[in-house]
Amino acid sequence: MQNFPGVGVSPGRVIATIRQMPKPVSEPPLGEQLPAGVTPEDATAALKKAADAVHDELKARADRASGDGKAVLEATALMAKDTMLIKGAAKLIAKGSSAERAIWESGASVSEMLHNLGGYMAERATDILDVRARIVAELRGQAAPGIPASATPFILVAEDLAPADTATLNPDIVLALVTSGGGPQSHTAIIARSLGLPAVVAARGVDELADGTEVYVDGAAGSVVVEPGDTERAAAEGWATTASLLSAFTGKGETADGHHVPLLANVGGGKDAAAAAELGAEGVGLFRTEFCFLERDTEPSVEEQAAAYKGVFDAFPGKKVVLRTLDAGADKPLPFLTDATEPNPALGVRGYRTDMTSPGVLQRQLQAIAQAAAGSEADVWVMAPMISTAAEAADFAGMCAEAGLKTPGVMVEVPSAAVTADSILREVQFASLGTNDLTQYAMAADRQLGPLAGLNTPWQPAVLRLVKLSVEGAAAEGSGKPVGVCGEAAADPALAVVLVGLGVNTLSMTARSLAAVAAVLKTVTLDEARDLAQLALSASDATEARLRVREKLPVLEELGI
Ligand code: PEP
Ligand code: MG
Repeated sequence: MQNFPGVGVSPGRVIATIRQMPKPVSEPPLGEQLPAGVTPEDATAALKKAADAVHDELKARADRASGDGKAVLEATALMAKDTMLIKGAAKLIAKGSSAERAIWESGASVSEMLHNLGGYMAERATDILDVRARIVAELRGQAAPGIPASATPFILVAEDLAPADTATLNPDIVLALVTSGGGPQSHTAIIARSLGLPAVVAARGVDELADGTEVYVDGAAGSVVVEPGDTERAAAEGWATTASLLSAFTGKGETADGHHVPLLANVGGGKDAAAAAELGAEGVGLFRTEFCFLERDTEPSVEEQAAAYKGVFDAFPGKKVVLRTLDAGADKPLPFLTDATEPNPALGVRGYRTDMTSPGVLQRQLQAIAQAAAGSEADVWVMAPMISTAAEAADFAGMCAEAGLKTPGVMVEVPSAAVTADSILREVQFASLGTNDLTQYAMAADRQLGPLAGLNTPWQPAVLRLVKLSVEGAAAEGSGKPVGVCGEAAADPALAVVLVGLGVNTLSMTARSLAAVAAVLKTVTLDEARDLAQLALSASDATEARLRVREKLPVLEELGI
């Protein structure tokens, strides 16, 4: 039995065979020529055959899909036969280029042409690049990029997943996620928790496993076991019972002595919001608006944005919905806002800072939010990501006021914002702690890097002290302005208790974690939560903090989380 230890980021225990996520297709070398003995006619015929195969594969996937996904796959399948794409490549082959290089260059010019046309056409520009990569993979005899297509369920093994990969991830087929890279705050972890899939990240060596290997994944313990035995089989069967125990949430988060802690949901669009309302969320604590537009090459219109935002507001009539303005950059690039050539994107022009380089986009977004809010019954709050100074907070509040939005706030994700929370909260109505980025910046550890997973955890006493400083800053400001947490820390039931003990007012998380967090919170009084917070704050490191707190919460063991 071989064990690959990693970091458990989403609970659940399953056994299944694995499929590796293929590596991205590399660019064929510039100037690559036809191999000796291959005529341009042969190469063009091989190219057409590969393009046909890509078309047929995408069409077959479209036939199995439904709704929006079906339409997108059908349109993409047709692109593989696009005359301009194939003819452009054939011309280059006639001049001596290899088929791979020819389709690569032809794809680039078609994509650029679509991009320049703007509107709907520009949206297809990235699809052409996807089709081109598939054709190159087919010509090379490699697996197609993206999540493997399969009719039978499997455990997906990848280096890491990007937010855009979720679009094609079918949770009925993908039973668990395991990555060799990625940290506890990586998007793989966020995706797994939102889909309720067991997941382990930073499990070094898993990328060496062959497709079809049977493994056991324990997403709480963080282990991946090859050739599972009887113990693992019993554990996987037992999980099904635990999962049903955890599925009941009454809709009100509170401690054993009745201290109310609203449990809110993190959502990326209307569909998520409807599901979160169904699962009992008391509102939305983080609407990641950039998730609505990840595939866009161009700025969405005000009307289009207003429709997307209204989809979320309408799921929570009369309830609080905290919308975050576009957080483009670093791990969530948006082509129309992000400069892909920045040497250090996490420290670059991202989040609120894009207002400097792309003026007008934020103003139009606020206009769209106000338009959507006016036509809905939700209590709409708006916050800016990546705020670093009180001056930025004041500017943002001014822009919100101009747009007629009454409840401006900020995310506290940069240590400077935590340290100056008192001055910042003088300018806005509320703060929400983004512990994912706050941890990355406090520890100077890229949240996407597996080897740094040990540093990159919100259990770090340094991060907890920044949370404490933020709460104290809000109290010093005097008027009881609320401070919530919307980072992944809130979805960890033991850490959620610590956050409440530190004085945080609300917790926002993926809706799938609501029941577990509520169940554990209900077992402690507010004073006990405060004691646990003290215990964590005074620990010498993250591991000790986590162990000390978990030891005092026997309910975690009982629930297997
Ligand atoms: C965070 O940084 O904690 C956060 C909630 O934002 P995101 O994960 O989208 O960067
Ligand atoms: Mg963030």
